[in-house]
Amino acid sequence: GWRSRAAFKLIELDDRFHLIKPGQRVLDLGAAPGGWTQVAVKRGAARVVGVDLLPVEPVAGAEIVEGDFTDPDLPARLIEMLGGKPNVVLSDMAPNTTGHAPTDHLRIIGLAESALDFAIEVLADGGSFVAKVFQGGSEKQMLEPMKKLFESVRHAKPPASRKDSSELYVVATGFRPNRGA
Ligand code: SAM
Repeated sequence: GWRSRAAFKLIELDDRFHLIKPGQRVLDLGAAPGGWTQVAVKRGAARVVGVDLLPVEPVAGAEIVEGDFTDPDLPARLIEMLGGKPNVVLSDMAPNTTGHAPTDHLRIIGLAESALDFAIEVLADGGSFVAKVFQGGSEKQMLEPMKKLFESVRHAKPPASRKDSSELYVVATGFRPNRGA
């Protein structure tokens, strides 16, 4: 079985956007307890690496790194573990919430922007990026820079994401780093 209810969100996003293809390298940021990592393996990715601040029980077919994704040594290490640049960078990361909605919103956008910077650094040409964001205004700030770097950028709310939560996902496909330069 899946380790998290969140697994169904990635299943739904992947059914709709066809993100994970057999043979690909997939990086899962904020992997604990491992549901998205399981889905990436099940969908046929050749190499999957999950990263989290928290420990993750081993996932068959994947490797796990315990640490902060902003660690400057990590991009090179992850590319080595994956055997090349990832075709897909996933981020279901969420910061600890404060209960103060505007603060929480800024924190999650900060995390999503850091994940985007990370993805820009490591993604293979033609690659895809998925990140959790929250509705509330500033999620739109990420769209303009992303549209220069990806062929397609969309917001999606998978059915498994609770309707009363402002969570949604930004899904970008067709990474084309040179077009933005
Ligand atoms: N997609 C996962 C699944 O299906 O099992 C659930 C991910 S959970 C919603 C978000 C995770 O992001 C938490 O486990 C948290 O520890 C992790 N996280 C938050 N900030 C992080 C950071 N700076 N580096 C690595 N992981 C981080």
